[in-house]
Amino acid sequence: MALVIQKYGGTSVANAERVKAVAKRVVERKRNGDNVVVVVSAPAGLTDELINKAKAISSKPDKRELDMLLCTGEQVSVALLAMAIKELGEKAISYNAHQVKIRTTNSHTNAQITEIDTKKIEAKLKNNHIVIVCGFQGINDIDDLTTLGRGGSDTTGVALGVALKADTVEIYTDVDGVYTADPRIVANPKKLEKISFDEMLELAGTGAKVLHSRSVELGYKYNVPIHLRSSFDESEGTIVCNKELIEEEKLITGISHKLGEALIIFEGISNTPKIASTVFNKISENGIFVEIITQGAGKGINTDLSFVTKNECFDEAILLAKELAQDIGVSNVKGIKNLSMISLVGNINKDKLGVLNKVLLILEEENVKPLILTATDLKISIVIEEIFLKKIINLLHKNLI
Ligand code: ASP
Ligand code: MG
Repeated sequence: MALVIQKYGGTSVANAERVKAVAKRVVERKRNGDNVVVVVSAPAGLTDELINKAKAISSKPDKRELDMLLCTGEQVSVALLAMAIKELGEKAISYNAHQVKIRTTNSHTNAQITEIDTKKIEAKLKNNHIVIVCGFQGINDIDDLTTLGRGGSDTTGVALGVALKADTVEIYTDVDGVYTADPRIVANPKKLEKISFDEMLELAGTGAKVLHSRSVELGYKYNVPIHLRSSFDESEGTIVCNKELIEEEKLITGISHKLGEALIIFEGISNTPKIASTVFNKISENGIFVEIITQGAGKGINTDLSFVTKNECFDEAILLAKELAQDIGVSNVKGIKNLSMISLVGNINKDKLGVLNKVLLILEEENVKPLILTATDLKISIVIEEIFLKKIINLLHKNLI
């Protein structure tokens, strides 16, 4: 008898009909002879709705109370799913994070799971129950409710898989797997049968929104494969797993992108670590998000220092940069908004310069200037003006994948 963890996202439990469909799927699995633990997210849209309710009261809601509020969303789903499973004649029980002691760090709204007490779940499984657990939530060391960050139910699913030593972790969602690029902007992307943990982490970090990054990190650390698949059909999805299980290593596995990026450039900055650290201390003190930092070797004592942030942070970042420029004697500060970052992820180390060349040729032919270009063994990223995104990403996909 295998132990299966199934995690269902918000769209999979959006209404009564969907909850019943999930119940049917879970019950089928149980009747096939497996033990099933189910993790569910709040019904689609509910977490946003709750956040809006909080914002109507306070522009900066107290984080402990926000967690208290957000945790109610997942509780709706577990209770309804337990009822639906019982209607089908199987034993089921729902639990929140308190009841199964999903311990987390203290940081409200962005906590990390540290421990799960599996005794209660194991006892119920032994007693033939299907156990349903709230995703996204935990409790800190003083038993206050915490949440794991948006999309965090995936992480609850994998963490339970690790704690219970499950045979399989399945993450059910509204897409049927990981694609070579976002089907909403790229024509004919292909579904990947398998992808390695590190490639998935790179894709998730550079804009592919399929899995909560921390869930992939956990799977990686404890070597628990994650099967990402659709709750709307029976198709096989994509298995995120150890590199060793992947027969064919691809040069480029996928292309991801991010919208709404912005760039701040300090021109003619004195090339000393002290000055750069002054800049980044100030940026961090002001809570400005920084995606990429680049600094050139420069001519003589001066160089350019730039960083990529988000459009939302642009006004604050440019104001701060101008203030800083005076303090550190920089001749010019420039800012550019509405940019997009495209990242090619794979075993780039096999032919880094070859890939880079092809990317540059495409940009050259289309007359698009890369504002930032970075390359590591796992990925190549370029930052370009957002208006060129669709054209360039499609050309890269067609020519490189
Ligand atoms: N309900 C939470 C959210 O909307 C957690 C999740 O869906 O994984 O972010
Ligand atoms: Mg999700």
